[in-house]
Amino acid sequence: MSNYYQAEVETLPTEELKKIQSEKLVKLVKHVYDNVEYYRKKMDEKGIKPEDVKSVNDLHKLPFLTKADLRDAYPYGLLAKPLTDCVRIQSTSGTTGKRVVVFYTQHDIEIWEQCCARAIMAVGGTKEDVVQVCYGYGLFTGGAGLHGGSHKVGSLTLPMSSGNTERQIQFMMDLGSTIICCTPSYAAYIGETLKEMGYTPDDNKLKAGIFGAEPWTEEMRRDIENSLGIKAYDIYGLTEMCGPGVSFECTEQTGMHINEDFFIPEIIDPDTGEVLPEGSKGELVFTTLDKEAFPLLRYRTRDICVLSRKKCSCGRTFIKMTKPMGRSDDMLIIRGVNVFPSQIETVLLEQGYSPNYRIEVDRANNNDTLDVYVELTSEQFSDTVKDVSIKEKQLAEAVKTMLGIKPNMHLVPPKSIARSEGKAVRVVDKRKLHD
Ligand code: ADP
Ligand code: ZN
Repeated sequence: MSNYYQAEVETLPTEELKKIQSEKLVKLVKHVYDNVEYYRKKMDEKGIKPEDVKSVNDLHKLPFLTKADLRDAYPYGLLAKPLTDCVRIQSTSGTTGKRVVVFYTQHDIEIWEQCCARAIMAVGGTKEDVVQVCYGYGLFTGGAGLHGGSHKVGSLTLPMSSGNTERQIQFMMDLGSTIICCTPSYAAYIGETLKEMGYTPDDNKLKAGIFGAEPWTEEMRRDIENSLGIKAYDIYGLTEMCGPGVSFECTEQTGMHINEDFFIPEIIDPDTGEVLPEGSKGELVFTTLDKEAFPLLRYRTRDICVLSRKKCSCGRTFIKMTKPMGRSDDMLIIRGVNVFPSQIETVLLEQGYSPNYRIEVDRANNNDTLDVYVELTSEQFSDTVKDVSIKEKQLAEAVKTMLGIKPNMHLVPPKSIARSEGKAVRVVDKRKLHD
């Protein structure tokens, strides 16, 4: 039995959902054409008039928007409401360049918080819960989103923000937190610190965690579940859409339901822009349906995933997306081979290593080099130097089997790789420095 925040809409038959989407889309297209010069110009260039969009089936006629468009229009170029109607600004983390700012009206905040409330209830959250939010508060959307969602559910909310890990743990223990929200890399760090402080996973009252804002693997999920003694759920979002809560996992743990009454997803071929059929792997594109201040038509997320409308045991009818394996721009091309950092993470954790690693890519004599630094746990560290070099070779072979290219593997002492309290930075691509 699943908990819903808004049962009726979360279980709507697909045909009805499409009808609602179509109605909202037609209104939105007219609104942005009439009110936002940026959209008008883009649509005129493509020869599209608002009347050409009669339902969701016409979505493909509209032009795409990219992060470059958002940077180009910075700060007010895509604003669709007077600034006086806006009540909030949030900003992207700037993982891949200049930050983008996004505006919210009161209504935009309301629907964003609804999305997060749905996510909390989908993992069993109720007003009985104590929700510890250790995503960063501030311009980053993580803290504000889950905070608002937790209030809506009526849970007791602990607005911890990120960092100060020992204090996080003290509050978790003293106040009996039952749900924790943060990035998966920070969850792993909290798990590690709990152990160092002498706690077992049974000592805390946590039952679930809602983790997102960065790619993480199934192996990482198991690692966190074991170290915290919880069920770990995924949540996805991006500032451009609202923040966390664009999609969320239910207790089935097989992908994230997209809040389709607010966002229409498409999967496209990132090279040609062609819309791909359900079940294909490609770039995720979103159109917002309810946003007033900063509506986005066909925004290219650069996140690579697969969509599926397979029936879910939780009863929700919203389409599901797989965990994005990373953004198209996280993908490293090393000696001509496409490599996602998450593939390396899978191998490391499968082989029993810690999720504390760093990937360095460089170029020497016109050849790409790949160095992977993996931290040993203190138990593993007691091995002799000879054993370490055998392990490095074994691990390098395992990565080669996965990727087709062999890295230089470095097993490094405990605590030598910086921990992340927010989004982890795992990759250093030094080739960019030479370009
Ligand atoms: P930035 O683009 O600067 O990182 P955001 O903080 O808005 O700004 O981050 C949104 C991005 O974070 C998404 O486009 C996606 O790449 C990544 N992301 C968010 N949630 C997840 C998740 N659950 N799994 C994988 N990646 C995620
Ligand atoms: Zn479900």
